[in-house]
Amino acid sequence: MPSSLPNSPAELADATWPEIAAYYDALASSAPTRESARAWLLQWSLLEELVSEASSQALIAYTGNTGDAEAETRYLRFVTAIQPNAEARQTGLAKLLIGTGIDDADIALLLREFHTSVAIFRDANVTRFARIEELSAAYQKMAGGLSVDIDGQTLTIPQLQPLLESDDRVARERAFRAGADAYWSHRDEMADLFDTMYALRQEVARESGFADFQAFAFASKHRFDYSPDDVARFHDAVAEVVTPAVARVHAYRRERLGVEAVRPWDLAVDPDGLAPLRPFKDVTEFVATSTRIFSALDTELGGRFADMARDELLDLESRPKKAPGGYCTTLHHRKQPFVFMNAVGVSDDVTTLVHEAGHCFHAYLASHQELIWQRGTGSEAAELASMSMELLAAPYFAKPVGYYTPDQARRAQAAHLEDVLLALPHIASVDAFQRWIYTSGEGHDRDARDAAWLRLRSRFEQGVDWSGLDNERTARWYRQLHIFELPFYYIEYGIAQLGALQVWKRSLTDPDGALAGYKAALRLGGTRSLPALYSAAGARLIFDADGMRELVGLVEERLEMLRGSTVS
Ligand SMILES: [Zn+2]
Repeated sequence: MPSSLPNSPAELADATWPEIAAYYDALASSAPTRESARAWLLQWSLLEELVSEASSQALIAYTGNTGDAEAETRYLRFVTAIQPNAEARQTGLAKLLIGTGIDDADIALLLREFHTSVAIFRDANVTRFARIEELSAAYQKMAGGLSVDIDGQTLTIPQLQPLLESDDRVARERAFRAGADAYWSHRDEMADLFDTMYALRQEVARESGFADFQAFAFASKHRFDYSPDDVARFHDAVAEVVTPAVARVHAYRRERLGVEAVRPWDLAVDPDGLAPLRPFKDVTEFVATSTRIFSALDTELGGRFADMARDELLDLESRPKKAPGGYCTTLHHRKQPFVFMNAVGVSDDVTTLVHEAGHCFHAYLASHQELIWQRGTGSEAAELASMSMELLAAPYFAKPVGYYTPDQARRAQAAHLEDVLLALPHIASVDAFQRWIYTSGEGHDRDARDAAWLRLRSRFEQGVDWSGLDNERTARWYRQLHIFELPFYYIEYGIAQLGALQVWKRSLTDPDGALAGYKAALRLGGTRSLPALYSAAGARLIFDADGMRELVGLVEERLEMLRGSTVS
């Protein structure tokens, strides 16, 4: 048993990999027996808490100020030197644990995950994964560096967003084409990167004994409760049920905008020509209003959010040198979460914070679980916590608790529900495309890939007129960073969204029961199987058309109600 772990994550802030490796080595050299296994596992869990929190602190410091060179060095040491090496050591420790013959019922799920990780681990794949990381970084750099020139101004891709929301259709079209061209003009370089990533991933899969990378991904992501065939059923169900519903959303938009056909540059503008919502004027108001909303929903959750504000665990406002995006990270040693985002006072900020707060509530409610692995879940359950919160908190968005007048609150909810519908066909295309890439035998061929994307995209996305825009439509997949950097990580959002809609459905008639089920599920952390976690929240995993039809019908009904009361 290692004599001493560091006292706090701060002691690891400047640790090099060899220094951290020494702690893993100490655990490995005190190999557990059946009798000492639990105490040894607890010690390992404490080490992971410390390393994980030190790593989170490095992330928080760097993303909070990307201009801080020292913070950058620390952060890069964690992601490039410490984390990849630690993963290999963790597999080694998991092997030692399994070797003891431990079979405690309360950690059965953890042991199943360890078994799988050990079974698919190959030394020869470590360098392949390192090479894939380098290619991911190259893609990230290429995509992050894209810019466009409009009216003598150089804009980044995110800076095109306000132009895409403009009520000037010509300006929108120009912005849309500029954004798509930025990717399309780098198509060959990005296809070069992807060719190599594709080949490496198929090698990884074969090395581990799988027929293709899809099969490997299901195992490495610990998808024990659904199969590639279930996901294929999900795609079919989306095409059958959601695609036509989204076409109806677009038809409504076409009518409101008074255009002959909805073109891809007509999707971000308010269909009624209303000015964008401005929910708050500064972060102080943002935090105060959010605290009121969560407290109105639930005293405990409101209290937790107030704790985060008090303990300076919210970095919300956009400022120079802050990294883009938003996230919630768990500080496992102090057992509190941290939220990072770039609020500028738009309605998307409200959705982002409510989403991240759902992840935070998950971290709080599961923090009583003994082992670090029992506090976390796969993305399917993690996103159920965040996406359900987006819907559960929405009834409190109107004044005096929330941000909006009653009309504005209805408009925000309608926009959110439309987004929920629109996301599903996108998720299905991204996932079905990757299935095709890694299983068709043609995924190595860049022209065949682009053709497959267009074919799948037109299957799932209908109601938008893309005629004459094949290149622009193809460019969309090159923009989807998951396909390059996080393969097969996407269907989780679809599964979780359908779970969240079930929690929401229950909340319409039984708000207390829905909230109680939600909190009960979150408290379980990762100690139950995925179907059991969903069931605790009052939901099930939906891959079938009938399940989707019921929920999509409810969303459309609600949309009609919301539109009927706001639109004259
Ligand atoms: Zn999330």
